[in-house]
Amino acid sequence: MKNIINIAYVPGDGIGPELIKVAIDTIDLLFQDLKEIKVNFTLCDIGYDTWAKTEEFIFEYGRKFGGISEEKIKGISNTDAMLYIATSGGDFPTEFTTPFPVLRRRFNVFANVRPAFSYPNTPFLKKDIDFVLVREQTEGMWMGEEKVLDSNVIKATATISRDASMKVAKFAFEMARKRNKLKKVTCIHKENVLKYAFGEFVKSCELVAKEYEDIALEKMHTDVLPFELIRNPHHFDVIVTTNMYGDIISGETAAITGGLGVSPSGEYGDNYAIFRPVHGSAPDIAGKNIANPIATFLSVVMMLEWLGDRKEMELLHTFSMILKKSVIETLKEGKSLPQDIGGDATTEEFKVEVWKKIKDYKGGFING
Ligand code: ATP
Repeated sequence: MKNIINIAYVPGDGIGPELIKVAIDTIDLLFQDLKEIKVNFTLCDIGYDTWAKTEEFIFEYGRKFGGISEEKIKGISNTDAMLYIATSGGDFPTEFTTPFPVLRRRFNVFANVRPAFSYPNTPFLKKDIDFVLVREQTEGMWMGEEKVLDSNVIKATATISRDASMKVAKFAFEMARKRNKLKKVTCIHKENVLKYAFGEFVKSCELVAKEYEDIALEKMHTDVLPFELIRNPHHFDVIVTTNMYGDIISGETAAITGGLGVSPSGEYGDNYAIFRPVHGSAPDIAGKNIANPIATFLSVVMMLEWLGDRKEMELLHTFSMILKKSVIETLKEGKSLPQDIGGDATTEEFKVEVWKKIKDYKGGFING
């Protein structure tokens, strides 16, 4: 019987539609002519542009999430994973927010993973940076728990639980073991200020660390990390932290490793995962064929890796490796580089160079 892979895709807004096309066409190129695997794509049409056309929204947790509907969530519930470029938040009226948090909650993707790596010919801060940021994203300050108490006072609350903290800590330790590099997890916290809340996060990391004698646990205050990331990024292997700190730090990790155009991410749950570039919808360059597709390519690399593990299909790991190698070789050659990292190539021109290498490596692989 044929192995079937079902992928939901969100074109979203701004540069989303042009980059999702690059992603889907590239996956088709990798899988074409394969008799034993079929890849199905399911459109999940959500975002600001959808909201502007339909005015649909979901109301939950006291907020309106624009451009998404229960029907659309149902439509993707049987897929294995999602590819998502970006949805814009800028133009929604104040009472609306972007639809992405609904997907995070419904599919319970609790660990947001952002690898930081110095790829050749990208404007990184230092050579050989190679660490991963793991951010808990089901609770903490970023869940939008706000209350207007009176005309003068607004209270925003951060929830930290043992269950969610243990879960993300375990994920981080597993990742450090799998990476097999510095064998270290750095827990970022501010326990000296919020003794109970961050105390719980730290305690959870300590409890999990006892199960991983081969992996060291390091604890670091939130305000020390931005300094250390610039001074000595080689110090880090896996960084684990809470929702808000993870979000803030991820901007810096992208900046020290070549910028938004080259930074991918994966958001992992027990049964589902969402892959997307770290950048947003970049409305300023939409439709100009100059968006850097590297973060999109690398998000596909992460997706194929995860699907390969889940479906126990070695070929998906091979395709993930072929795509990653093709991007790295194109960067190394340096003759076709996207504009945001100092070159003059269009999205299409960079894609064509990557595709040439995919075809070569795939040919070599198939011909033994
Ligand atoms: P949004 O409202 O969706 O968050 P934004 O413009 O505020 O959009 P980003 O989309 O992350 O935030 O863009 C920030 C800057 O980085 C913009 O100048 C944008 O053009 C640039 N940028 C983002 N992604 C890319 C990309 N893939 N290629 C080239 N430039 C990019």
